[in-house]
Amino acid sequence: MENSNPGKDISLEDIQSKFPLVAKKDSSHYSNFEIANVEFGPGKCPVFAGPNMVESKELIIDVALNIQKSGASFLRGGAFKPLTFPYRSEKYTETRESGLEWLAEAKSITGMPVITEIMEEKYLSMIGGVADILQIGARNMQNYPLLTACAKSGKPIMLKRGFGCSLRDWLGAAEYILVEGNKRVILCERGIVAPHTHRSTSRFLLDLQVVPAAQEVTHLPVVTDPSHACFWRPWVPKLAKASVAVGANGLMIEVHPDPSQAAVDPLQAIDYLEFNDLMMQLKRLGDACEVTVGSGR
Ligand code: PEP
Ligand code: MN
Repeated sequence: MENSNPGKDISLEDIQSKFPLVAKKDSSHYSNFEIANVEFGPGKCPVFAGPNMVESKELIIDVALNIQKSGASFLRGGAFKPLTFPYRSEKYTETRESGLEWLAEAKSITGMPVITEIMEEKYLSMIGGVADILQIGARNMQNYPLLTACAKSGKPIMLKRGFGCSLRDWLGAAEYILVEGNKRVILCERGIVAPHTHRSTSRFLLDLQVVPAAQEVTHLPVVTDPSHACFWRPWVPKLAKASVAVGANGLMIEVHPDPSQAAVDPLQAIDYLEFNDLMMQLKRLGDACEVTVGSGR
């Protein structure tokens, strides 16, 4: 192993015995795999875009059609959502089974593959019937029984980093998936809690450094989600560009036709025009960095 002590808190012993399956075998070892005909691996930067919540059938179909035109690779959206507070208004209510049906409809109309969150094992077959990728949210990164159950389904998994978790914790959680024989795992950095940032309402700090740090240790693709990290629309395009520049293997971006009216997290989504502009800029940046951004369209 070339990087015998690659990270401050990752030892050679960790690499050999704590997460041997997640660890690279040598410095040029990177996973390459396909999910729904989308390629993951070096030189690829698939884009997952869509609203925070699958609010209605009309909304999700409209978003799917628009992001597809701009070159997104996957449609994202939560039907089952870990909402921070338990009180629900009509608008702020998970759409659950209906949301999944709407996602399925958007997928059949556009042919776009879907990523959506799973919080409880009991919904695995239902969600797995629609999702091309199961998203395990930051709040569940260390819910090991959930990781194991999802891993055993054989479905590809996106593992979002817990906002208080180290790289070591994150790779340990990924090992729970690989140890079940499931190799199609994507790591997603979505912001961490850090005491000394600039703006308390940012909520989280996008840890751009963890992208190269993780890539030193693991062969798995590492994507970023600037929307959840900064929680502030004007910064999302800038952080998305920084993510491509730092070598991210994919991007998750929240997109909504009327962001200020989004049922959940209305400050962080960008609109169709902003997304389209961003994709054009990212593709130019991708040319400079030798990566294909989105569907390459
Ligand atoms: C999401 O992607 O909608 C989400 C809830 O993300 P996170 O788990 O990163 O907070
Ligand atoms: Mn969210």
